[in-house]
Amino acid sequence: MSASRFFTLKEARLSNNCPECYSNDSLEVVFKQKFIENTFYKAITAETVNELHCLNCDTQIFPIRWTDDIESVVDYQKRALQPKPKSIKLKPISWILIITILVLIIVSALFATEIFSF
Ligand SMILES: [Zn+2]
Repeated sequence: MSASRFFTLKEARLSNNCPECYSNDSLEVVFKQKFIENTFYKAITAETVNELHCLNCDTQIFPIRWTDDIESVVDYQKRALQPKPKSIKLKPISWILIITILVLIIVSALFATEIFSF
């Protein structure tokens, strides 16, 4: 069980015209950062993506449709972005496994050195 997912870092309204419906107050850019979550850990990656959509015509505007103006505004927003630092968080099951393995290693070392014996 492993999945990459995204969480929203920042949403910003642009005052540019929508290339689809020409509305001038409905473009919204969303920046997302990727994280990976599986049974054992949750890790935040350095990867960010952005999506532009129009709230008026409810269309996702792909970069191919962006005007130079849109591009420079998105660029500007992107530079101001503060992504979360990369991190990794172990889940309780990982800690239980690590502790179990450590205990097994210590116990077998004690038996090996004959501090414990049957
Ligand atoms: Zn639109």
